[in-house]
Amino acid sequence: MNIQLAIQHGTNILTDKRINTAKLDAEILMAKTLKKDRKFIILNNNKDLEDKNLKYFNKLIKERASYKPIAHLINKKFFWNNEFFVNKNTLIPRPDTEIIVEQVLKLTKHKNMMNILDIGVGSGCILLSILKERKNFYGTGIDISKNALDICKINAKRLKVDGRTKFYKSDIDKFMEGNYDLIISNPPYIKSCELKYLESNVIKFEPKLALDGGVDGLSEIRKVIKKSSELIKKNGKFVLEIGFNQKNKVVKLLKEKGFYINCTLKDLAFNDRCIVSTKI
Ligand code: GLN
Repeated sequence: MNIQLAIQHGTNILTDKRINTAKLDAEILMAKTLKKDRKFIILNNNKDLEDKNLKYFNKLIKERASYKPIAHLINKKFFWNNEFFVNKNTLIPRPDTEIIVEQVLKLTKHKNMMNILDIGVGSGCILLSILKERKNFYGTGIDISKNALDICKINAKRLKVDGRTKFYKSDIDKFMEGNYDLIISNPPYIKSCELKYLESNVIKFEPKLALDGGVDGLSEIRKVIKKSSELIKKNGKFVLEIGFNQKNKVVKLLKEKGFYINCTLKDLAFNDRCIVSTKI
């Protein structure tokens, strides 16, 4: 069988599962199978496939048909300006989360040195993207998951910012270290009872620990705000990702802990997704 036919066959299987990026996904998985890029696949689609490659490609298609995310099948996800290593142990970086990076870069345009804390650092996509852009900034990342921190450390090395990072495996309540110019966080904020409504590729394959925000979706956000109010410098900025319907409640929580609200920002689907505040 040649490349084109195998891709067509794979595309049909994924289309039957209502995966709307079926053809693109099949091409990406073929590229992974042949250890080439997508351009090669498209330009050489009449080449014959060896049996072992066809078998491996079909195995990948089967996994994708069970909704395993492409990012997990190829172990990478592009975010902001870099490729991140990912697996089942961290949330897959979301394009919507790039707003945090964008805001921080705007806020720090004229800053020389900054000490940043990322609470629930996961893959490191937010913190490491910022450190890559700002050569004199230092970053601390905490996460309750050791497996997530292992991924983050791999990414820090790959992006060559590891010399400016410190990582701690810690429960947020127990972390006491440091005094920060800037705190960022994308904590779990989905209500426990609503987890089951998330898309299959999310709920079946991404860590619940990174999604589950407790009964009202705010239990981790509350802890993150309290801890940030203790570890942030006066006039320090706090940039927090929130659920689409949490703006009013989170604004109230922030004000109660001594933060001034600078602005709230919308994501790519025009949902409220991020709050920028200042410790006063
Ligand atoms: N935005 C993520 C999702 O929709 C949730 C991320 C989070 O809980 N921090 O899957």
